[in-house]
Amino acid sequence: SATLYIVPTPIGNLQDITQRALDTLRNVDWIAAEDTRHTHKLLQHFSINGRTLSLHEHNEDKRAAMLCQRLIDGESVALVSDAGTPLISDPGFVLVRKCREEGVKIIALPGPCAAVTALSASGLPTDKFVFEGFLPVKMLAREQVLETLQTRTITSVFYEAPRRVVDTVEAVAKVLGEDRQLVLAKEISKTFETYVSGNPQTILEYLHRDPAHQKGEFVLMIAGCASTTTEVPPEALQLLTILQTELP
Ligand code: SAM
Repeated sequence: SATLYIVPTPIGNLQDITQRALDTLRNVDWIAAEDTRHTHKLLQHFSINGRTLSLHEHNEDKRAAMLCQRLIDGESVALVSDAGTPLISDPGFVLVRKCREEGVKIIALPGPCAAVTALSASGLPTDKFVFEGFLPVKMLAREQVLETLQTRTITSVFYEAPRRVVDTVEAVAKVLGEDRQLVLAKEISKTFETYVSGNPQTILEYLHRDPAHQKGEFVLMIAGCASTTTEVPPEALQLLTILQTELP
């Protein structure tokens, strides 16, 4: 069978495409794209005449079966999304899982990813982190996810839509307190790239200072809670509570 290539594309600055991504897009038989019109613009910019097919959340099951069969029949495929690394809060999982099951060779090219880029510049600990993707849209569900960070000691990374960023930072203040440290990365690799760090109040002040501050694309990172309070294992805490009631 032929190879499935997973090809990251720029998240803002077109110069972030890699030489290997360009060579791959030039040489494959098919380019499976989240949005073919969007990808055509990218291909046009680099003068690539690839054949595209759509693969998005609404047709992924059918398209994955079809593409997998083409791969088995010897046609190579590059998978791209609108921006960044496919499968990272983007389509492609169904296709990759199917190809793995069928023993199709898969090569993922390293490249742009907003989460990793933001984290590397955040100043927050990077030795361990949780990537949470997008928070649920409904407020109750969002708060429930944020509650899981109350005792989390490592950095959490979220993608956020512009129309929800203020609500999310307010929810962080409500659920995790006014002192939790945040870093908001905005418009990475674009002209108005900005990093804002501080407590929820500082971030909200930035977002309200100028209507332009709420537009664009965001990665929100939340520092872990101070580890001293959670270093005590839950069983020990339970024991302490029992002892407290027993002691004079
Ligand atoms: N697959 C992509 C990746 O590897 O980063 C992510 C796709 S996801 C549908 C889009 C989200 O990624 C945006 O809503 C935003 O949270 C984040 N994002 C993408 N590009 C960004 C950029 N240039 N600056 C900040 N965040 C970005």
